[in-house]
Amino acid sequence: TFAFEKYPFLKELGLQQTNHGCFDGEKWTGNGKTFLSVNPTNNEVIAEVKGATPEEYEVAVQNMNKAKAEWVKLPLPRRGEIVRQIGDAFRKHKAALGRLVSLEVGKIVAEGEGEVQEIIDICDMACGLSRSLNGQIIPSERPDHFMMEQWNPLGLVGVISAFNFPTAVFGWNFMIAAVCGNLTMWKGSPSTSLCSVACTKIIIDILEQNNLPKAALTLCMGEADIGNLMVEDKRFPLISFTGSTQVGRIVSEKVSKRFGKTILELGGNNCLIVCEDANEELALKASCFAAVGTCGQRCTSLRRLLIHSSKYESLKEKLVKAYKSVVVGDPLNSGTLCGPLHSKAQIKIYEDGLKKIQEQGGKILTGGKVMDGPGNFVEPTIVEMANPYAPILQHELFVPILYIMKFDDLDEAIAINNSVPQGLSASLFTSNLQNLFKWTGPLGADTGIVNVNIGPSGAEIGGAFGGEKETGGGRESGSDSWKQYMRRSTCTVNFGKSLPLAQGIKFDL
Ligand code: NAD
Repeated sequence: TFAFEKYPFLKELGLQQTNHGCFDGEKWTGNGKTFLSVNPTNNEVIAEVKGATPEEYEVAVQNMNKAKAEWVKLPLPRRGEIVRQIGDAFRKHKAALGRLVSLEVGKIVAEGEGEVQEIIDICDMACGLSRSLNGQIIPSERPDHFMMEQWNPLGLVGVISAFNFPTAVFGWNFMIAAVCGNLTMWKGSPSTSLCSVACTKIIIDILEQNNLPKAALTLCMGEADIGNLMVEDKRFPLISFTGSTQVGRIVSEKVSKRFGKTILELGGNNCLIVCEDANEELALKASCFAAVGTCGQRCTSLRRLLIHSSKYESLKEKLVKAYKSVVVGDPLNSGTLCGPLHSKAQIKIYEDGLKKIQEQGGKILTGGKVMDGPGNFVEPTIVEMANPYAPILQHELFVPILYIMKFDDLDEAIAINNSVPQGLSASLFTSNLQNLFKWTGPLGADTGIVNVNIGPSGAEIGGAFGGEKETGGGRESGSDSWKQYMRRSTCTVNFGKSLPLAQGIKFDL
């Protein structure tokens, strides 16, 4: 039995109890594996989605290739206008889609709606980009020569995304890829397949209304099987992968073996440092949101909190008190601050993680228990760790466990921040200019996102988003991230009547 009828907003998004999970560029289909959409609050099955078969995948790629010339030939601002219309459609569906994100992932409605807002924001940004995307003109050393850079689309882009941001990550990739002139195939996470179907429907509607090739977006829901087809397929010059470092490593190796490009957005292990001169109240609020938000299942979630020893006892006490006031419950209810973990697998990570943490000297200050009931609820947990280099701290446990630790010297704290294999996001709380510029400079944090007096999570789309080291090195969203979705041609044009060679080389026949 399905709980589909309990959630009327699903119909507003064009969803049904049984859905096709493959849009092949012309029609909806899906004769592959069936994926159940489960509400993590009570583990009731909401609906089912039928994924793509390898044959349906092949049809989708062929349809994309057939549509390529038409999409590429559209003037860039025209593609920008389409993305603007897509943004308006997401505005219209923000409430319903935000609730679906909340229902299917388990994050609170404010965060679900925030995800949709990110899509709207990236649409605005991509639309602006469509009128400003340009290459350089470079002075040529040769007389009567003109040298310029022309940016051309890559063609087909494959997007593979994770469960925790089931709509925004796709949005960041698709909107930029689309204005750049690419066609995108998306494989979302199987456990958030309703979100994938709903977003695809919104976009296909706009393409249809504008009488444009619908194969600018195809959807092939599946697991590692479909993901692997994309990764090994030479027809995708770029694979944008968001997920665990473990799977990202496989993707990276396979794509680079065929000389394809990747954008890799992998695991984080994010740190917040509270200096002696920090505003303690701000640090407290920022830490709670960053550690508890999305039930600790953001790539940018706060994992390691380093507190100057002068502030340690007082902040520890306030944190424990704040944690005890966090309302854990149904994410669709207003007032809830922390929903359930996304799946039973996440509960096992929480339990096994806590066991290892205690073996390695960690002391639970609050939380630490799986809550009774049919849902995937756990208590947000704070652990005091004496050793900031304990082996467990090298790993990303994708659950709401926050380690707190003491430090005395900022250089030591920066060394601890940088001591993990991941490099996504890090924050420093200080009111001292010397600390600030040390932190953001070459001997400071080695992460892709380096914040001051705000937490490590909750990035804006205007900046380039991504991380270093085992986080994969990718950058998405704002700044000049668009360049990754294009190939650069350096064009030298001779408009003279002779043929001078570069570097003054003489080659007289
Ligand atoms: P995951 O690695 O298990 O899955 C990610 C995607 O890869 C899914 O769509 C999955 O079906 C697919 N996949 C699995 N095996 C594959 C294979 N062999 N080939 C191709 N595709 C394959 O990750 P998850 O559990 O869904 O997400 C949580 C992880 O994602 C965390 O580590 C988190 O930090 C990371 N994440 C990173 C960012 C970022 O921007 N850095 C953002 C969100 C999530």
